[in-house]
Amino acid sequence: MATQTTGSERARGDLASVDADALQAFAHGIRGGTVRAGDDGYDAARQVWNGMIDRRPGLIAQCAGAADVMDAVNFARAHDLLVSVRGGGHNVAGTAVCDDGLMIDLSPMRGVHVDLAAGTARAGGGATWGDIDRETQAFGLAAPGGVVSTTGIAGLTLGGGLGWLRRKHGLSCDNLVSVDIVTADGQLRTASESENADLFWGIRGGGGNFGIVTSFEFKVHPVGPLVYLCAPFYSADDTEAARGLLRWWREWAATAPDEVSAEALLWTVPPAPDFPEAAHGKRVVALPAVSTGSLDEAEELLRPLRELGTPIADLSGPIPWTYLQGAFDPLFPKGQLQYYWKALYLDGLGDDAIEALIPRALDRPSESSLVAIWQLGGAMSRVPADATAFGRRDAPFLLSFDSTWADPAESQRNVDWTRLIWADMHAFSSGGVYLNFPGFGEEREALVKAAYGPNYERLVALKNTYDPTNLFSMNQNIVPTG
Ligand code: FAD
Repeated sequence: MATQTTGSERARGDLASVDADALQAFAHGIRGGTVRAGDDGYDAARQVWNGMIDRRPGLIAQCAGAADVMDAVNFARAHDLLVSVRGGGHNVAGTAVCDDGLMIDLSPMRGVHVDLAAGTARAGGGATWGDIDRETQAFGLAAPGGVVSTTGIAGLTLGGGLGWLRRKHGLSCDNLVSVDIVTADGQLRTASESENADLFWGIRGGGGNFGIVTSFEFKVHPVGPLVYLCAPFYSADDTEAARGLLRWWREWAATAPDEVSAEALLWTVPPAPDFPEAAHGKRVVALPAVSTGSLDEAEELLRPLRELGTPIADLSGPIPWTYLQGAFDPLFPKGQLQYYWKALYLDGLGDDAIEALIPRALDRPSESSLVAIWQLGGAMSRVPADATAFGRRDAPFLLSFDSTWADPAESQRNVDWTRLIWADMHAFSSGGVYLNFPGFGEEREALVKAAYGPNYERLVALKNTYDPTNLFSMNQNIVPTG
C-alpha cells in the first residue's frame, strides 16, 4: 500500500533542478559527506526504521557538525528544496526521509558529554538513547528518554518523550536545559529559559517545526545502575481474563508512587529466548512496571502485580538500567518489519472503556502488534499546561496501538484495524493525541490541532516567526499563516 507523506509540504523544487556547479560546491563543503542515488551507501542512508517507507531523496547531507547543518539549511532555502531531517530515523511516519529533495541527516552527530558539576548531559542531534544511557550510566546518571535504546533523542524529545522515568522526572522535553538549533534563516541559535525563550517553549513538544537541533542539553538524575523491573505475563486470550486484570491494574495504578512508571499490555509472547518456550505464542496481559526507588522497597511495592494468579512468564527482578533500556530493541528491528503506530489519551479507564477495548484488541490481525496502556501522571502532569508546547499533561493514561507485521501484503488490513480501534476509543477521550505515534499523520492539520489544544495558536505564531515559508514541513506540520 502507498504510504502517505505527512506534513503539508507545498511543491518545492527537487535536486534535479539545481545547477550542477552549485550542487558540487555545496557537496564539497559538507564535512560529513553527501550521498545520492548510485553512490555506495545511498540505500543504507535512506532507510529508516519503518519497512513501509521507501523514499528516494535527491541528496543526503550527512552532517558532521553545526556548520554542515547551517550550510544544508541555507542551500535548501536558496534552491527552494523539499527538506527532511533525520535524527534516529524511528518516526513511524517516515518523515526523516523525502522524495527528490534534500535529506539532512544528523546521524553522524552522536557525541555525548556529561558535565558532572552542572548535572547535565549534552548530546548531538543524531544521538540515540543508547548513546546517552551509555555515557551517563558511567556516572550512575540518566536522562529521561524512551523505552527502546535505538530511538533518536531528537524526534522523541521534540515531540515530548515518554519513558520509564516520566512519572519521577517528567517528559524528556521537561528535562531540557537548552538546545542549539539552526532555524530556517540558517542562523545557529541557543534556546533556553533565558535565551530565545519563545523558541525554547515551542521546541518542547512542537516537534521539528522550528529548526534543526544540533545539540540537546538535558538535566540528568541519579538512576541505577540497578532498577527494579516488574514484568508478569498473564494468559488472557478472552475478554473475561483480560477484563479482571485491567480493572485491577486501573485501581493499583491510581495509588502507585512517582518512583514507579507502569504499563498494561495486550500482547502475544514472542518466540524470544527471554521467555519460557511454553509461553511462546500465548496471548497475554502483561503488567510491566519499573521502579527507580530502593530495590527492596520496589520488590515489596510491586509484588501485588505478580500475584494475580499464576503468570505464564515472570521476568521480574533487579536489572541494570542500560540492559532494561535495550531489552525491547530486538523486537523492533530496523527496516525489516512494517509498522503503523497511533495513540490517544484516555480520560480514565472506566469499565465502559475496558469493555470497548478488549474485544477490539483481541481482534488484532497481527500477533506482533501491541496494545499498550501507559500510566501517566506524576512529574509530567505537574508541569503547567502552558509552560511548554506539549499538548496534554492531565490525562491519567495514554493508549497506544503499536501495529507491527512482517508481510507487506498485510499492510492494508493492519492499518485499517489500527485506524478503526483508534477512532472507536476516542469515545473515552476528551481530546489529545500523542504526535510521536502519529500513524502517517493522515489527518494532517486536524491531528496537529488535536494534539496541541490551546497551545496551537501560539505555535502557529512561533512558526510564522521562525519558519514563515515552512521549510521544515516533513513533520507533524504546524502550517504558518504569515
Ligand atoms: P526521526 O525519524 O529521525 O525524526 C522524526 C522527525 O523528528 C523528523 O521528521 C523531524 O521532523 C524531527 N527531527 C529529527 N531529528 C531532528 C533534529 N535534530 N532537529 C529537529 N528536528 C528533528 N516515543 C516515546 O515517547 N517513548 C518511547 O518509549 C518510544 N519508543 C519508541 C520505540 C520505537 C521502536 C520507535 C520506532 C518509536 C518509539 N517512540 C517512542 C516514538 C518516537 O518518539 C518517535 O518515532 C520519534 O520521532 C523518533 O525520533 P527519531 O529522531 O528517531 O526520528
